[in-house]
Amino acid sequence: MAGGGQAIRGSRIGSGPMGEAERGEAAPRQQVAYHCSREHTSVITFAIEAVAPESWDCPRCGLPASLDSDNPPPAPRTEPYKTHLAYVKERRSDEEAAQLLAEALQLLRSRRKAGDVIL
Ligand SMILES: [Zn+2]
Repeated sequence: MAGGGQAIRGSRIGSGPMGEAERGEAAPRQQVAYHCSREHTSVITFAIEAVAPESWDCPRCGLPASLDSDNPPPAPRTEPYKTHLAYVKERRSDEEAAQLLAEALQLLRSRRKAGDVIL
């Protein structure tokens, strides 16, 4: 049989110059620095064959970060990591409005019960 040579060749994958590059116990990686508008620099590690995205959420504050340290992306209006107090302050007027609405509805319902059926 002439297949003997092929079998040997097959078993030796990984020993040649090309095989070594593919063995990769420590896969080659690239480190990409991202900069957010709060001046955090975060180094994200990607596989070397991966294309690093142009933006990445800052792991420290959650804001979008970009590759360009001079032009970090602007913070969005709704910041993902707002303090609870700021959140409550912002929501208060909404909650008051909701409260007023609820009271108004309750008033309507009680009138409905007491008087004629109004749809
Ligand atoms: Zn940040």
